[in-house]
Amino acid sequence: MLIDLRSDTFTKPTAPMLEAMMNAEVGDDVFAEDPTVNALQEKGAAMFGMEAALFCPSGTMTNQIAIAVQNRAGDEVICDKLSHIYNYEGGGIAVNARASVRLVEGENGLIDPSQVGININPRLDAHYAMSNMLAIENTCNKGGGTIYKLDRIAALSKVAKEHNLKFHLDGARVFNALVETGEDATQYGKYFDSISICLSKGLGAPIGSLLLGSKDLIVQAHRKRKMMGGGMRQAGYIAAAGLYALENNVERLKEDHARARQIKDVLLKAHYVNEVKPVETNILIFSLNDNVEPAKFIDALDQQGIKAINFGGQLVRFVLHLDITQAMTDKVCEVLSELSI
Ligand SMILES: *Cc1c(COP(=O)(O)O)cnc(C)c1O
Repeated sequence: MLIDLRSDTFTKPTAPMLEAMMNAEVGDDVFAEDPTVNALQEKGAAMFGMEAALFCPSGTMTNQIAIAVQNRAGDEVICDKLSHIYNYEGGGIAVNARASVRLVEGENGLIDPSQVGININPRLDAHYAMSNMLAIENTCNKGGGTIYKLDRIAALSKVAKEHNLKFHLDGARVFNALVETGEDATQYGKYFDSISICLSKGLGAPIGSLLLGSKDLIVQAHRKRKMMGGGMRQAGYIAAAGLYALENNVERLKEDHARARQIKDVLLKAHYVNEVKPVETNILIFSLNDNVEPAKFIDALDQQGIKAINFGGQLVRFVLHLDITQAMTDKVCEVLSELSI
């Protein structure tokens, strides 16, 4: 029994998901003629109160398209220093949008509305890049799966509008936030200009992300996707997995959150742990004591069939997801409490 806690990207399609994929009706999506892709796009847009959507191969592509079509060369994107768009997209903002990045130091990856104004450059002074976009990540992966609640999103949206900034959401794990807070996803549409959501994280689809926005934005995004080589043909086979995921795997994310808290309680008592970051959703980030080598700790877990990743320095990350059962969670707790290192 392999227990893979490295990421919620490791989920594999279940039998009913594969069946939905096998039975998908398909067409050429570059011609917008794939009925399953169209259904997925319509469903995604409606869920978030947005006009339109575009199905893309990855979350990196949806983020990069959103950033590229809404910024010009020399613009500046304001985001938290822990954000995925800055840390984990290969420096794509510099290449795809030719824009610069202004890093804000929020609390566990969450930007406070009061931090936005002070990071906007003077518009009429040619020394500065043009502040043009505010981008947030909900939940914030590197922050430990932290949640932006709707009231903070509303306040950030207000500041963005006041300063003429586009407002983008990297919502790779937005459903983890929504099931935990019980907030209404349709509210999101009125706050953001663009939203990226991942179907291949905890929702369990093998591939795929959606970019949501206005009709006009999605027309531009469609062109950009083609240019990047992301126009897919009979993509309905994978879109079917996304539809299945949205219909069946959203509510159950709560189980992952409960399991993350169960493991957290064990870590808090473990003699080799220095600190556990607040656990709000399915991600656990903790630091090991200085005398514990992360590579040794990860190796010790590996020998018990548990996979985890080093998250820089003394930090280790565990991610709960669809393929981690209650029995596996109990096993992880047992191993962690008995580990001698
Ligand atoms: C996974 C992830 C993405 C997109 O990643 P892809 O692997 O390109 O699908 C974007 N943002 C965050 C926060 C993520 O965790």
